[in-house]
Amino acid sequence: MYLKRLEMSGFKSFASRTELEFVPGITAVVGPNGSGKSNVTDAIRWVLGEQSAKSLRGSKMEDVIFIGSDSRKPVGFCEVSITMDNSKRILPLDYAEVTVTRRVYRSGESEYLLNRQSCRLKDIQELFMDTGIGKEAYSMIGQGRIEEMISNKSEDRRAIFEEAAGIVKYKSRKKEAEKKLADAEQNLVRIRDLIHELR
Ligand code: ATP
Repeated sequence: MYLKRLEMSGFKSFASRTELEFVPGITAVVGPNGSGKSNVTDAIRWVLGEQSAKSLRGSKMEDVIFIGSDSRKPVGFCEVSITMDNSKRILPLDYAEVTVTRRVYRSGESEYLLNRQSCRLKDIQELFMDTGIGKEAYSMIGQGRIEEMISNKSEDRRAIFEEAAGIVKYKSRKKEAEKKLADAEQNLVRIRDLIHELR
């Protein structure tokens, strides 16, 4: 599985629709300071569900929408899509390509799409869980991240290994099941109280 294509429209400095095609192997993005190299990686993190404007180097989420320039008016919304090669069916979907899209409007409305069908952020997070792909996963290593990993607490480092070992999915399901169990126990307590009162 590898990142095959990135499409951006109205995202940060990419006002016009911009499409980047990647091939297996190493790709280097080069350009002068301020030309938008980091905006490319911001786009990948954003489409995978990044919610923190600060980590996208803005102060509010709207800052990812092209704000206009001397020669171009601002735009009303932005859209980013990434297409993953899934010919080996590593992602549990029966498609050779999987495209994830995120769109946000100045009004604050936003949506996620999976192969052009509307979906929830949770669906995207679950799809990529344990693959190493994700806004926080180890496939994206930003500036300073290596030092951060070395100096991190051992529990934080462990999370990286857990993602690589493929057990995050099970931990997340266990957490959901434990919550359901706790809710069911609460309901039982309430029912017992009611039975007690009715006796
Ligand atoms: P460096 O080599 O200095 O790290 P870079 O090539 O990584 O630079 P970026 O940080 O990706 O460059 O891009 C910064 C540029 O993106 C700036 O010129 C900034 O004005 C522009 N930019 C960021 N957000 C927006 C936006 N919402 N609308 C228009 N332009 C934007």
